[in-house]
Amino acid sequence: MIIASNFKTNHTRESTKEYLVKLNHFVKENSIKEEILVFPPSTALDNYNLHDSIKIGVQNAYPTDKGSFTGELGFTQIDEFDIKTILIGHSERRHILKESDELIVSKYNFYKDKNYKIVYCIGEPKEVRDDGLEKVLEYNFSQLDGIDLDYENLIVAYEPVWAIGTGVSATTKDIEETLSALRKSIKAPLLYGGSVKVANTKEILEIKNCDGILVGTASWDIEDFKEMVRIAHEI
Ligand code: PEP
Repeated sequence: MIIASNFKTNHTRESTKEYLVKLNHFVKENSIKEEILVFPPSTALDNYNLHDSIKIGVQNAYPTDKGSFTGELGFTQIDEFDIKTILIGHSERRHILKESDELIVSKYNFYKDKNYKIVYCIGEPKEVRDDGLEKVLEYNFSQLDGIDLDYENLIVAYEPVWAIGTGVSATTKDIEETLSALRKSIKAPLLYGGSVKVANTKEILEIKNCDGILVGTASWDIEDFKEMVRIAHEI
């Protein structure tokens, strides 16, 4: 199973280090075999000495080796820390930061060519969910246009926009229906994200075709995140 933590714009360099020390200790002590991905803010990127199960990823990067893209990180900056994992297409980047589908696809292709593990996020807004499953699938599949679904290092995260950071997760029925439909075209691991917390981790991880979770808010507290990893380990 894959358990991923997206810090978004939270934690500092110092608190990220403390978090990772505790996580690393927990993983070693409990012989955790789950795949754990942590996406800290870019100021906290570093070459941490972590157990093999834990990988650090970037929340975003520009599709360039280097160049004149003020405020962005390119491959050269992240490769310095031997980071090989990236989050692409998160709804906050699509909707708040107005990233176009074209830019998202070019990021995907660029980091795929670098052989990165890519957690590629898709998910529909509330008004689409209200129109029913057919529209939900149409919307989610449209976000996969131009994406090579056979890429061996791809992980797809289904994250309904209306469930992200709202405290209201999608129902297990909605998640199961959506993941089952995605599974017909996607061999890659499928994650669910959207208000996952300790209390609903087990029921979500037990959903058919759910290979893991991508967690924002509830993962920022190391004790809660450790508990989610422990639940995954025990399933
Ligand atoms: C996310 O940022 O990917 C996410 C799922 O956030 P939250 O868990 O806060 O809904």
